[in-house]
This record gives sequence, structure tokens and C-alpha cells, in this order.
Amino acid sequence: MTLGLLVGACGLLGLAVGSFLNVVIYRVPRHESIVAPRSACPDCGTPISNRDNLPVLSWLLLKGRCRSCGLPISPRYPLVEAATAALFVGVAVRFGAHAALPAYLVMVAGLLALACIDVETRLLPRRVVYLVLALVVVLLVAATVVTGHWRSLELAAAFSAGWYALFFVINRLDSRLLGFGDVRLALVLGFGLGWLGVAAVLIGFFGANLIGAATGVALIVAKRSNRSTPLPYGAFLALGALVAIYAGPTIHLQLRSF
Ligand SMILES: [Zn+2]
Repeated sequence: MTLGLLVGACGLLGLAVGSFLNVVIYRVPRHESIVAPRSACPDCGTPISNRDNLPVLSWLLLKGRCRSCGLPISPRYPLVEAATAALFVGVAVRFGAHAALPAYLVMVAGLLALACIDVETRLLPRRVVYLVLALVVVLLVAATVVTGHWRSLELAAAFSAGWYALFFVINRLDSRLLGFGDVRLALVLGFGLGWLGVAAVLIGFFGANLIGAATGVALIVAKRSNRSTPLPYGAFLALGALVAIYAGPTIHLQLRSF
């Protein structure tokens, strides 16, 4: 498969996955099933037909309005779909047809969903965090079997445990500083970034705190918040991890393409 074909396929997959992430982002915090019933307009409750359920395209064709009641549909839905497609294209460009590609597609999708939920609710649902963790671990173990580079897996396990321990201690010292959702998320970040190497972990960790601190200061300066307003730290952690995955050091030296 050529890289162009792979990138295109991942982009289309991203649109479909983004559509599913919308369901997760909306329903999981509301404790609703993500399987049934099918999606409906939040205003009039009319189920959304298949032809109106195409990612991004349907929203554009309907000019952002429900076909039944005409009330606006949030642009968040097409934005999440487009963002997922863009993230998937980025991962495909970065990894190519590498054994680790599926793991990082899952990881960026999970991080996007968790960041959106955290911004909206200031929570990181444990069901989502553990599902992403399980998938990333299984897929990276499989990738390691293919590459034969077991050092990556050792680093992943070590950084997962270390990052978790650090956040666990901070959470015990002051749970307002760091919620337990962030402690659980550290397992995912440590494993996924640790597999890429020490530099990726450092970029992810310091990137997240830099983005978080800059946002906090900007909000205080803009008088949109004060020091006691909780910030979605999980979303900053997710952003930092994305920066590390995309802008981190090239990993091709330790990877054997198949
Ligand atoms: Zn409607």
C-alpha cells in the first residue's frame, strides 16, 4: 500500500471514528448507552436518518440545522469529526505502515474524546480511560512482537508506572490540584509516550504543564477566571501527549517497518 493510500484510508476512518467519538463525548458523561438508541436531534428527538448521518458532509448540506425542527445543530459535531480525521492523517503520515500505527490511532482518538469530556464536565470517565489503556497496551504489545524491540515495551511499562506514582502522590497531597481522573490518565500517557522513548515522555509531560500554565495565566489576565477556577488539566495532558506524538523526535531509528 502506498503512503498516499494509507493516509487517505486513515482520514476516512477518522471521519467515521469521529462520528462515534461524538456519541461517546455526549453520552458517557450522561450515563447513557453508546450503542442504542440511534442518534437523535437533542431538540425535537427525531432520529437522525442514515443520509443525514454522514460525518461533516451532512452538517454542511443541512447548513447546521435539524431537518425536522430546523433548530441549529452544534458545530461541535462536524468539528470533532474533522479533528479526528486530521489527527488520523497526522498519525498515518508520521508512522506510515508501521506496526504501531493502530495503537496510536486509538490513542489520539481516546485523547480527543477525553479532552472534550474534560473541558465540558471536568471529569475523565474511568470507563473511557481504562478502555483506551487496555487497547493501547494490547496494540503496543502486538507492535513490539512485530518489531522485536522489547526495550520500547520496558520503557512503556516503566513510564506508565512512574507517571502514575507521581500523580498518585500529588493527588494524595492535594486532590484539588490533581483529580484522580488525571492519575488514571497518567497510565495511558506513560505507556503510549514511553513506548516512543524518553524524549516523547518529557515533551508530553512538560508540554502539558506549559500549555496548562499559559492557559491559566491567559484566562486570569483576560479576567475570565481567577486562581480558584478549576482548569481541565486532563485536556492539557491530552494536548501535551498529542504534541509529543506528532512533534516528538523521529522514531524510525528504533522501529523496523514491515
Ligand atoms: Zn430537531
